[in-house]
Amino acid sequence: MPIKSGKRGVEVLRDRTISKSTAFTKEERESFGLRGLLPYAIGSQETQMNRVMANIRRKESDIEKYIFLSALQDRNEKLYYKTVMENIKELLPIIYTPTVGQVCKEFSQIYRNDKGFFITPEDKGDIFDILGNWPEEDVKVIVVTDGERILGLGDLGANGMGIPIGKLSLYVAGGGIHPKHCMPIMFDVGTGNEEYLNDLLYLGYPHHRLKGEAYFDLLDEFIQAVQKRFPDALIQFEDFLTPNAYAILKKYQHQILCFNDDIQGTAAVALGGVLTSARVSGKAFKDSTILFVGAGSAATGIADLMVKAFMDEGLTSEEAHKRLWFVDINGLVVKGRNDLMSHNIPYAHEYDQLPLIEAIKALKPNILIGASGAGGTFTQEVIETMSAINERPVIFALSNPTSKSECTAAQAYTFSKGKAIFASGSPFDNFVYEGREIITSQGNNVYIFPGVGLAAITAKAKYLPDEVFLVAAKALASCVTEDELSEGRVYGKLLRLREISHRIAVAVAEKLYEMGLAKAPKPADLDAFFKEMEYDPTY
Ligand code: NAD
Repeated sequence: MPIKSGKRGVEVLRDRTISKSTAFTKEERESFGLRGLLPYAIGSQETQMNRVMANIRRKESDIEKYIFLSALQDRNEKLYYKTVMENIKELLPIIYTPTVGQVCKEFSQIYRNDKGFFITPEDKGDIFDILGNWPEEDVKVIVVTDGERILGLGDLGANGMGIPIGKLSLYVAGGGIHPKHCMPIMFDVGTGNEEYLNDLLYLGYPHHRLKGEAYFDLLDEFIQAVQKRFPDALIQFEDFLTPNAYAILKKYQHQILCFNDDIQGTAAVALGGVLTSARVSGKAFKDSTILFVGAGSAATGIADLMVKAFMDEGLTSEEAHKRLWFVDINGLVVKGRNDLMSHNIPYAHEYDQLPLIEAIKALKPNILIGASGAGGTFTQEVIETMSAINERPVIFALSNPTSKSECTAAQAYTFSKGKAIFASGSPFDNFVYEGREIITSQGNNVYIFPGVGLAAITAKAKYLPDEVFLVAAKALASCVTEDELSEGRVYGKLLRLREISHRIAVAVAEKLYEMGLAKAPKPADLDAFFKEMEYDPTY
């Protein structure tokens, strides 16, 4: 392995980007001055990976597993990514949801090492300068949160940093983007979490949140500073409070290279699952009636993309909206309600303000999508009613973490007598119904953002129009094989994540070139180009 940095001895072992630890060969140990610094045995990366997995499996709690993996990432980046990629099904719930939720809650307690970048109101006027402190110059993907609405857990302030860190690990593992191009950012403008404000260990900016004009001005300075410092970088907005998420997306979506994963990423992964479900249920997507439970950023983002998908199938915007219904905490979203947010208005139809179960009976949806953050909302009665109306009811319980899921996989399959086409936001164990094993599906945004991101940075996209997410959803659906469908899956196997991301990236990049939104010259063969640039953590 060539070490171009000129580093020797412990410097080599302490550099996470080049260390192979016990896998350094005899010759490498000789030439890099490592003799005596390592035990005698020379292990392969495979052996090291087995050791890592054995250690992880011995840990009693998921948070300990996370801490162990995080420390490995600091010591030996290649081994970390190789282990994550080869054990993605087992480790995704550790490095991302649901464990990352707990990690964020305890971020200030378990803090070990500097990962990511923090911006606070005290940096006003200096953001461009301090971005220069980041050790990498060629930043291509930024994931930023202000921590105000972390997963379904509320305002976690600077502790939300676990989210950008986790998402960027998945850009690397799932999309093959080199770690040096990734930058996690916490836009730490304070917190409304009184518990944290009174906690001496809390690491964030210990003030109440910056709000209104001051907040948006600081955010704008950040956006402009990124444009200057890292001109072609993609900014992924993550876990902002719903009204802010919409305001930010509206302001910047067609101005800079950015997207909001909670709105657009979720939309694409859910639509991808719904398009796939049509292959199983036999009911064409364009003939669907969809009822959402929850009318926040996630559900509305999905519906907005579905409008595009319906229109793509030949429906008018008005016809498309009529296929999409919402129940929120106060019942069916209907005209005349005075408690609706602006994003609810296009979906507020003329109807009675029915509770969920009555809404199902009246509207007869074939697809029920939960994004409410309210665990257990899909009761036995709800699922049985859906099953009475539909031969194969589509039931997606997307809320995270697991405790907030609208129903479990076991409930969906049991109450529907094995008929449900089910996907969830958090992972569930496979389920055996009447002797048949059904493989559960997690509608994880990880199926979408690495592929979209890879296409965006490769094409040096000017911005990402909604069409990109429609293309990504269709590509995702097309990746599911007939074998996978017969196992009950709604999404392709996670072990195929790189392949799936690449297929999405090719489709999205094609779209960006077709729409004239790419600044980079088009590679002759996009697929080969992506394979060529892919980060391979194998030693
Ligand atoms: P949000 O706070 O913006 O919206 C929540 C909505 O749910 C509101 O409209 C609220 O009125 C409604 N609601 C609350 N309790 C309800 C109840 N008992 N019955 C009916 N409606 C109820 O939140 P969000 O950003 O839209 O996220 C919602 C959930 O979706 C979260 O749990 C989040 O983890 C999940 N999510 C999942 C994915 C994914 O699976 N890929 C992605 C993003 C968000």
